[in-house]
Amino acid sequence: MTETRKGMLLVISGPSGAGKGTLVSRLLDLDPTFAFSVSVTTRARRENEIEDVHYHFISEEEYDTLLAGDAFLEHATVHSHRYGTLKSEVYERMNRGQNVLLDIDPQGARSVMEKEKDCVSVFILPPSYHDLKIRLHTRNTENEQEIERRLNNARGEIEQMGRYRYLIVNDDLDLAFDQLSAVVRAEKQNSVRYFPVVEE
Ligand code: ADP
Ligand code: 5GP
Repeated sequence: MTETRKGMLLVISGPSGAGKGTLVSRLLDLDPTFAFSVSVTTRARRENEIEDVHYHFISEEEYDTLLAGDAFLEHATVHSHRYGTLKSEVYERMNRGQNVLLDIDPQGARSVMEKEKDCVSVFILPPSYHDLKIRLHTRNTENEQEIERRLNNARGEIEQMGRYRYLIVNDDLDLAFDQLSAVVRAEKQNSVRYFPVVEE
């Protein structure tokens, strides 16, 4: 029997500071079957970020052109900046059998879940609001006003966790990563992505 396989679309979402980026980079380091979908954003690049690795940093005008050209699988304004997932980062790879990983906000995740019913959606929850606050301050990548904005948005985002197929509380990082790995291991065997060709 020959097996052909469509790639998995893994959608990771949750409030800013929950640990999505940390879990995503660990998964990408350890599992070569995943490719990260690099989003476009109009927000400024942080010092530790690399152009075309973490994001494609683009102008408002470039964003408008992509929008008008129907280039996005989903797009959203998050914490007052615009972000979008390019179709070109996703579909070709999935059709070649590669797994694709999206780290996107809950608005974007909702729209992907509606369009791509077989996507694997995972919500990353912080152990508490207090921990979230500490993590955003410890990460030290946003100013006080931006941190406040992210914390204010977190409550509404957390209310949406019931829409996701899986929920992971990122308290102990190793445990959370084990749980994410278990989801990935099981979903790799999900029959929806297999097209077995039974030979005579
Ligand atoms: P997100 O991508 O969801 O915004 P990050 O991955 O940037 O979040 O994590 C926010 C901060 O919290 C980072 O400084 C990260 O090192 C830290 N962090 C992530 N997971 C944990 C954890 N389980 N326990 C403590 N700190 C964590
Ligand atoms: P940050 O500015 O901290 O990198 O990301 C802020 C939020 O935007 C995070 O919740 C992140 O998941 C989300 N995000 C990143 N890329 C995209 C995208 O392409 N689409 C959407 N909808 N959200 C995104």
